[in-house]
This record gives sequence, C-alpha cells and structure tokens, in this order.
Amino acid sequence: MASSPSLRVVLAVIAGVVPETVLLATLVRAGAVSAWLVVAVAAAGLAVACAVVASLGTAWRQRAERINAVAAALEARRPPTHVVPEDRDAMTRAERRLLDAADAVTDENKSLGDQRDEFEAILRSMTEAVVVTRSQGEVVLLNGAARRMFALDPETDYRGRHFVELCRDPRLQDFVARSTNSAGGQVMSEELTIQIPAQLYLGASTAPVRTTQDAARVLVFHDITQLKSYETVRSDFISNLTHELRTPLSALYGYAETLMQGVEDLETQRRFLNIIARQARRLARLLDDLISLSDLERGISPLNLENLDAAHVVGEAVELMLEQARREGIHLEGQCPADLPKILGDHDRLHQVMVNLLDNAIKYTPRDGHVRASAQMMTGNGGSANAAVSLVVADTGEGIPERDIARLTERFYRVDRARSREMGGTGLGLAIVKHIVQLHHGTLKIESRLGVGTTVTVSIPAAT
Ligand code: ADP
Repeated sequence: MASSPSLRVVLAVIAGVVPETVLLATLVRAGAVSAWLVVAVAAAGLAVACAVVASLGTAWRQRAERINAVAAALEARRPPTHVVPEDRDAMTRAERRLLDAADAVTDENKSLGDQRDEFEAILRSMTEAVVVTRSQGEVVLLNGAARRMFALDPETDYRGRHFVELCRDPRLQDFVARSTNSAGGQVMSEELTIQIPAQLYLGASTAPVRTTQDAARVLVFHDITQLKSYETVRSDFISNLTHELRTPLSALYGYAETLMQGVEDLETQRRFLNIIARQARRLARLLDDLISLSDLERGISPLNLENLDAAHVVGEAVELMLEQARREGIHLEGQCPADLPKILGDHDRLHQVMVNLLDNAIKYTPRDGHVRASAQMMTGNGGSANAAVSLVVADTGEGIPERDIARLTERFYRVDRARSREMGGTGLGLAIVKHIVQLHHGTLKIESRLGVGTTVTVSIPAAT
C-alpha cells in the first residue's frame, strides 16, 4: 500500500479515470461516440486532476513547513509563531490545536524555568548546606554553602559522585551512610562535631524526597559552632556566678549561725559581725556589677553623650580614690595637660571606668607603690579625624603575666582568684570597662610587666 498522501491522490485520480476511459473506449468501439470526443474529454479530465493534485501538493507543503516551524520553536523552548490560514477544514483546526498545545507547553516550560531559577537563588542564598543525593548516595545537587562547609571546589561538577567520598570526616561519613541505609527513608536529625575540613558543630538533618524516577534524600547541615560557643559562655557564666554567690553566702550563714548559738567573747562577736558586714558588702558589689554589666550588654541604658573635659573626669576619679589610696599606703596622683580637646562621652560611665581602673591599680600595688592617672592627646594616622584622648592609669604594682592579659576582660577572669576575693574584687570590673569603652567606639589597651607594674590606656574619640 502506498503511504505518501500525494501518491494516494494520484492513484485515486487514476482509479477514478480508468473506468470512464474503459467505458468510453467501449462506446467508441461500438461507434456510439467519436474517438476525438473521447480523447478531448479524457485530456480535459486529466488536466483538471493534475491541477487539483498540484494545488493539494502546495497546501500540504505549506502545512508541513508550518508544522516544522512549530517543532523548531518547541525545540528552542520559545513560543511558536501563529500563522494559520483562515480555513475551517479539519486539518487547519488540528493545526490550531497544535499551536495552542505548543503555547501551553512553552508557558509551562517558562514557569518551570522561573521556579528552577527561584529554587536555585534560594539554595544559593541559604546559609545552611544542602545536599541532595539519590537513594544510593550519589550527589544530585550541592549548594554553595555545602561546598564551602566541606571545602569542595566551587566549580567542579560533583553530580553522580558518592557524597561519603566527598566528606572526609568519619563522623560525617557515618551520618551520611546511616541516612542512606535508613529503612523506610525516615527523617533523622542530630548534632555532630566534625574535625575535617575544620572543627565545626553541625546540626544535621536528613529526610527522604520522593521523585518520579528515584527515591532521593535531602541532607541539611547547619553550622551551630557559634551557638555552641555562646552556650559554653553562658554555662561558664552561670557556674562562675553560682560559685561567686556561694562563697559569701556560706560565710554569712556560717557566722550568723555561730552567733545565734551564742558567742561569749565580745571581741569574737565583733570580729564575726565584721566578717558578716564585709561579705554582705561583697555580695552587694557583685550584684551592682552584675546589673551594670547586664544593662550595658542589653543596651538598656543608652549613653548620655556630651562634650567632656577629660582632665575633669580624671581629676574627679582621683579625688574619690585618694582616701582609699591613703589607707593602702599608695601614692596616688593625677596629671593632665591644660589644652586637651574635649571628648564625646557619657560622664557617669567614664567616671565608672576611671574608678574601676584606679581601684584595681590601688588593690594590686603593694604599700608605698605609685599610681598615676593622666589624660593625653593622641592623634591617629588620619590626622584630626582620628584624634582621641587617652585616659591612662599606670601603677608600680605586681604586674600581670603576659598569658593572662588577653583574657582579663572576660567575665570573672582573674589572675589569682583567691587574691582577688581577698581584695574584695568581683572579677567583673574590666569586663564592665571594656563594654563602656566599646560603646564609646574607643579602645582599651593593657600593658604589664611582672614585678614592674601595669598601664591601662583607654582611648576615647575627641569631640568634633
Ligand atoms: P577584680 O574585681 O578581680 O579586680 P577585674 O575584672 O577588675 O576584676 O580584674 C580582673 C583581674 O585582672 C584581677 O583579678 C587581677 O588579677 C587583674 N588585674 C586588673 N588590674 C590589675 C592591675 N592594675 N595590676 C595587676 N593585676 C590586675
């Protein structure tokens, strides 16, 4: 059977013409019609048939071109051009439907493309590392955060590689292997500490994803290192605080109980009461410092900034501490040049800084030592724009070991815990100083040499 439509039309014409030709030939032989008439009719019929076939052929060719154009547009993922004749025949209707279907496909394709772009943008901007694997653990997708977290090359195409081969840390490999083998594709979530490529605390979770082709898994890793360090700081703080509170409280309790049981000797009574008063004052100081620190950290009391005379701040603090210095046998002096520029600061907070620093200098300097408070002009490399005034407290005290200097501003950090307690310290003074200085956009520098003395310099930007 011929399959080409044109050939079928030609055969149909021949099949239509042959019976008439045979009939006319029979009539010619019987002498009923003239042979010339038969030839003329047959030629005319053939000419009409040829014209019909030619016109049909042209129409088919044009239709084929239009359908090819639709196919080409679909291949190029763009909407096809709508050129269809006005005819109402079945083929034209079918062509129109084809064009509508092609439009729907390209629309769908575009919206899928948009969704994919959005999805990729979301994955790119995520701070969590996301890895999608097939059921056997072969990588389908890795986002940028995952590449950074596991030190993978940003450009390499890792698709098809097993994820366990890409992560070198045994604990991570174990987690990935367990998630791949987990029966029924259950959701798993746990915290891991990995060492390779760096020490990180990770919140890891994995869940199955059903796709039409394969059961896949999505693994999400969240870097919780910072969070863990905050937790450690918080729990250290609570344990330090508990310790700080327990010591004076047990002293208060113990001496009060002894007194209640009755102490005959008046001198002993007075000594116990003195201890009770001292411990109560220590508790009050600790609470004051805690409130101060917590207010500063939470930004509860904002700075009350004004143009201040640094020499005045130094002078006031020195005056306040003179009596304490005298009691401890320390020579305390203040020294400030007259022409210092004003600083932009909160008077009460900077006073608190100077008193804390002087208190430390007096506490940790042996009898007959010297403590000097001063204010000095400082000019940075950028000239007057970086101008600052330094408030300096220098002592000739016991000094601080070099290894401890960097940690002095941590809450409750002391070089010698027992000695600080004995001196009535709370271990919070320098933490408070650091916070206040930071709020002023200033800097804090501690320099010390064992047995020689300590110099603490607080630089506060000059008022413009
Ligand atoms: P404290 O209440 O214990 O004085 P701080 O936070 O003020 O707490 O100081 C922390 C620690 O720094 C002190 O315990 C002390 O060991 C050390 N320190 C601070 N200032 C001086 C100083 N001028 N000389 C020697 N040691 C100092």
